[in-house]
Amino acid sequence: MAVMVTGGAGYIGSHAVKRLLADGQEVVVLDNLSRGHKAAVDKLVALAPDRCHFVRGDVGNRDAVLATLRKHSVDSVMHFAAFALVGESVDEPVLYHRNNMSEVVELVDACLQADVQRFVFSSTCATYGEPKVVPISEDEPQKPINPYGVSKLHVEHLLDDVTTASQRAGKAFSFAALRYFNVAGADADGILGEDHDPETHLIPVVLQCCLGQREHVTIFGTDYATPDGTCVRDYIHVEDLVDAHVKVMRCLVPGDRRKYNLGTGEGLSVRQIIDSVQRVTGQKLKVLEGQRREGDPAQLFANPARIRDELGWSASITDVDQSVASAWAWFQKHPRGYVGSK
Ligand code: UDP
Repeated sequence: MAVMVTGGAGYIGSHAVKRLLADGQEVVVLDNLSRGHKAAVDKLVALAPDRCHFVRGDVGNRDAVLATLRKHSVDSVMHFAAFALVGESVDEPVLYHRNNMSEVVELVDACLQADVQRFVFSSTCATYGEPKVVPISEDEPQKPINPYGVSKLHVEHLLDDVTTASQRAGKAFSFAALRYFNVAGADADGILGEDHDPETHLIPVVLQCCLGQREHVTIFGTDYATPDGTCVRDYIHVEDLVDAHVKVMRCLVPGDRRKYNLGTGEGLSVRQIIDSVQRVTGQKLKVLEGQRREGDPAQLFANPARIRDELGWSASITDVDQSVASAWAWFQKHPRGYVGSK
C-alpha cells in the first residue's frame, strides 16, 4: 500500500514526502511542477529510489490519476497541490477556483473510484475569514474573506458530502481537513526548504533582505486592531506540521471526518517576526510601513486544543526564533533556492 502526495514537489508536500519515506512508506509524488521543484523531487527519490515514485501530472486529470492510484495500490492521499497566496487569489480568483477547487473534484472522484480510504487535505485558517474569537477553535464559523479561503472551504464541503455518500454505500472513505496557520522553517537535514518565485511570505521575504536580495521589508498595514497595529499570525514549523499529518492519517477510520487547526497557539505580529529575524541573523533591517494588503484578516492564531485532546498532538517548536533559525539555515545554504543547489 502506498501514500500519494499531491504537490510533493512543493514546500510543505516535499517535507511530508521525506517524513513518509523516513517512516518506511512507499510514496507516489504527483506534481505538475507548475510551482514545485523537480530538484526537490530528485532529492527525495535519491533517499529511497525503490519506494519513492514521481508522476508528473495534474490532479484534475481524473483518468490519469485513477490509473496511478491503481498502479501503486494507493490507499491514502495527502493533498497539498494548490495555489496558496491570498493576494494572488484576490487578483486572480478564476485561477484559485479552478486549481484549488474544480481540479480537486476530479482528484476526489479518482480517489473514490480507486477506493482510497484516507484523504488528508491541506486546508487553511483562511477559511475562517475575520474570526469573531481568537484564538480560533474549529467551531469558529467559516466565512472566508478571500478567494483562497473560499476555494479551500469548498473542498472541505465536498469531502464532507462524499464521506456521507461513501458511508451510505458501505464504503470506507474518510478524510481530515487540516487547517494550517502560517508555516515556517525547513528540514533539519538541510535537504529541503522554502522556495517560491516570486516570494511573498513574510519570513522568507525578511530573510531575503538579510541576504541583500531586497533593500527593505514593507509592513502591509500598521493600523490593524492588534497590540502593535500589524497583523497577527501563528507560525508553525513545517516539520511539526507534517508530523501532525502522519499522526492524523494513521488514526483515520472509515467514515471519519476530522477537522483540526494546526498552529502553535501563539499569535505573533509582523513586527515581532521582523524582530525575531533581526535577533536570529544579527542584522538590522530597513523596515517601511506600507498599505494594507487586500484580503488580510487582522488576527489569525489557533486554539490547538482539539488535536491535542483527541490525538495527544501539539507543536514541538513554539519558540519562533527556532523556526526562523531553521529557515535562515536553508536560505544561507540556498540563497537562490533549489536553483544551482546540490
Ligand atoms: N506581510 C508583510 N510584508 C510582507 C509579506 C507579508 O507585512 O512583505 C504580512 C502579511 O500582510 C500578513 C503576514 O505578513 O499579515 C503574513 O503574510 P504571509 O504572506 O507570510 O502569509 P499569509 O498570512 O498571507 O498566509
